[in-house]
Amino acid sequence: MSCHLLESFRSTFRTLFILGLCALVNVAWSQKNESEVAVKDYKSPCVSHFEKISLEGGNNTTAITVFLKRYLPHLSDTRCEIKLNYRNLSPGGIHYSFVQTFLGVEVYQSEIKVNTDRDHTIHSIFDNSFDTENWRLSTKEADRNSVIAVQDKEAMLCQRVVVGHTEILTKGDQVIYQREVNSYFSPPDSLVWGKIFNPDPLTTSQQVYGGIYVDHNDTNATWLDNELQTVSFMAYFDSSKFTLANSYIRILDFDAPNIAPATSAVNQFFFNRSESGFEDVNAFYHLNIYRQHVHSLGFDIADHPIDVDTHAFGGADQSAFEPTHTPPRLYFGVGGVDDAEDADVIIHEYGHFLSYNASPGSNLGSQRNSLDEALGDYVAASYSKAISLYKSDWVFNWDGHNEYWAGRVVNSSKVYPTDLSSSIYKNAEIWSSALMAIHDEIGRNAMDSLIFQTHFSYAANISMSDAATLLIDADSLLNHGAYYCPIYKHLLERGLVPFYAGNPCGINGINEGTLEDLKVIQDGHSFAVTNLSATDLKLKIFNITGQQIGPEIEFSQTVFRYSDVNLPAGIYLVSIGSPNNKTSSFKWVKVK
Ligand SMILES: [Zn+2]
Repeated sequence: MSCHLLESFRSTFRTLFILGLCALVNVAWSQKNESEVAVKDYKSPCVSHFEKISLEGGNNTTAITVFLKRYLPHLSDTRCEIKLNYRNLSPGGIHYSFVQTFLGVEVYQSEIKVNTDRDHTIHSIFDNSFDTENWRLSTKEADRNSVIAVQDKEAMLCQRVVVGHTEILTKGDQVIYQREVNSYFSPPDSLVWGKIFNPDPLTTSQQVYGGIYVDHNDTNATWLDNELQTVSFMAYFDSSKFTLANSYIRILDFDAPNIAPATSAVNQFFFNRSESGFEDVNAFYHLNIYRQHVHSLGFDIADHPIDVDTHAFGGADQSAFEPTHTPPRLYFGVGGVDDAEDADVIIHEYGHFLSYNASPGSNLGSQRNSLDEALGDYVAASYSKAISLYKSDWVFNWDGHNEYWAGRVVNSSKVYPTDLSSSIYKNAEIWSSALMAIHDEIGRNAMDSLIFQTHFSYAANISMSDAATLLIDADSLLNHGAYYCPIYKHLLERGLVPFYAGNPCGINGINEGTLEDLKVIQDGHSFAVTNLSATDLKLKIFNITGQQIGPEIEFSQTVFRYSDVNLPAGIYLVSIGSPNNKTSSFKWVKVK
């Protein structure tokens, strides 16, 4: 958020505060211009339980409530109750979200999420509840905007309001906590024709940004005209004109710059990229194609309406998903390359909407935020990869990777948790790259289904390793574990799951050595050594006959990665020595 926005927020805050606006919000900014300031978590990660527990009394809200009050220690305080937020059905299971109450007042960010299969078995529980034993506060003064917030271990009665895109907790004049809530970034239908980029003009012309292949301030050019594709799609006809709307997706103007959405008296929406109607048609087309894809996989998370403004943010290079309106909204900015000219931006933002529908209100906490950004990047990349393989490891090929911003990738070799930074967007590459590696082995529809199923089980403040366990569980719910090994292998490669010596995938682990503070993660292609004490280490690789392969390698960085595509498949011994002559070794099985 810019200082300007903060200032204007402060001046409008009191007025709006009196209005007592209240809604559960979580908006996700899309991708760029993100401030590199770390998201400040309100609370520490939730407590995760992955034991399978058979439910007595059936798979329903009452039975789950009775079970939780017995199972979770924080609910033994008789002043506490739990209240159902929602119950969602997915192809693989049933998902219950509760919130803790104390003397009848909701405890802020106390979501308790329970995921069951379609039978009577709980697969996971995420517990954000608070220990209320020593709470001495009175809730007599509470009204409909009141929540109980915890600051420095002290529980206090606060007011929760939403002003613009910000959720604020206050006590008297004091702001206790605030956060951004945006995730940035049936009528009769008739067949119409329109021109679009598919997925973007650089991918179809097989060029990278530069030379003549530049935005040039949204002007038209021959090369851009050459990349237009004519497509047909359904639009709404109201007896006088066609509009870009159906039961699910509506192109509207609700944010500056105020540009009326394209309509047409005939069944053609033909625009070039310099005309405002182009972004309307491009966004409408890609959103509808993607909506049908999600629906066809058996998920209902795209069966909800959404409104879209393709010329928004007053000229800023920014896009966003905003869940606080009914229906929710997508905003696409027109700074830099117009965001709605690139299918990757369009589908990324729609990903936030899908995630929101699967587990509403759960996009809280920095790692959980990264998981949402990663979903957007993954769905964008897997959508465009189905259209073209050109630079398919890049996300935002036209909108980013250029003079305006760097874009992102889905083939990062970053490892969790070592490579976590303060940016939720950069951290997202760990998860999106793992998803894309699995996608490349098991195929698009299988991977898309797994990640949508996984999002139903998400809760506030979960970690990336929680998500990894849920992804493995999603495969057990949907496919009886058919893809366990490809999933496990790529999650292990990125440090998202621990090594299990007895894994059924033929992945070999380390022999415990004498060097402490050393961790090894390996797969069939590479290994990474985490050197927690950061001393100077020497590494040698031997083949099965004891012959040393290549020179000795010295390293002192925290994480050292090794891979060699020219090394033949086989068993190798890796030996690591410290300056005081302690050594540790492990067996590395290279598969190709
Ligand atoms: Zn985003």
